[in-house]
Amino acid sequence: MALVQVKNLGKSYNPQTRVLKNVSFEVEAGEFVSIIGLSGAGKSTLLRCINRMVEIDEGNIIFDGLDVGSLNKRELRKMRTNIGMIFQHYNLVPRLSVIENVLHGRLGYKTTLQGVFNRFTEFEKEHAFFLLEKLGIADHAYKRCDQLSGGQQQRVGIARSLIQEPKVVLCDEPIASLDPNSSEVIMDYLKSITKELNIACIVNLHQVEIACSYSDRIIGLSKGNVVFDGPSFMLTADN
Ligand code: ADP
Ligand code: ADP
Repeated sequence: MALVQVKNLGKSYNPQTRVLKNVSFEVEAGEFVSIIGLSGAGKSTLLRCINRMVEIDEGNIIFDGLDVGSLNKRELRKMRTNIGMIFQHYNLVPRLSVIENVLHGRLGYKTTLQGVFNRFTEFEKEHAFFLLEKLGIADHAYKRCDQLSGGQQQRVGIARSLIQEPKVVLCDEPIASLDPNSSEVIMDYLKSITKELNIACIVNLHQVEIACSYSDRIIGLSKGNVVFDGPSFMLTADN
């Protein structure tokens, strides 16, 4: 069974506009999938339905065998520990250090606490440091994260998601605020963790060329409809 199954998903924020219409697709562990589409197509809403940051109106999402729409609060919290999130604006806590931001991933993102560092075991701190090394930013571990460049901050975001040991990582426009060089670095990291850790990575992107060069598969969204689903080499100008 595929890790993520989206079945006839529909979503409206108000009765006049259906933002997602009958959206269906599946994503397997180890798959790197990009969702492409113009601004307003519904990409962000789709990702938010997967971890139920917004409620699902029609259809079902099955994540790791769980029907996301029918989970109670406790079950939902548990499910979300398996889902890493990467944002356009990184969503780090600026006044905390890099390593504290990474450790924050273990707490669930709603908790924002000063002195977070002291609550973790040596093992957890070592794990965080190991992830920073892996992402090439261990030298910055004890700096405030707002002293880092955008590309470095996004690497902190990736480390924060990985410390959760997620089964899927959802990335909402992860490179939209970055220059071309940093964008490549981030896409390379996302792709390599997907393969190395055998997780699923679902990435919202508006840059079609970048999506094609990195993804195993592309899902094209237009006005809330899936208009393409296939390997990137099959995507033509007509789609
Ligand atoms: P994309 O990520 O592709 O830009 P979004 O999912 O952000 O698309 O938005 C799809 C549509 O839903 C847009 O028309 C947007 O204005 C609308 N929308 C998004 N979030 C909300 C919200 N919280 N309330 C009302 N409308 C929303
Ligand atoms: P962006 O502007 O980067 O798209 P937002 O600030 O709009 O991100 O946040 C999107 C949603 O994600 C909000 O509903 C917020 O509560 C939630 N959120 C913020 N930071 C995190 C995080 N680090 N992990 C998970 N969810 C988060």
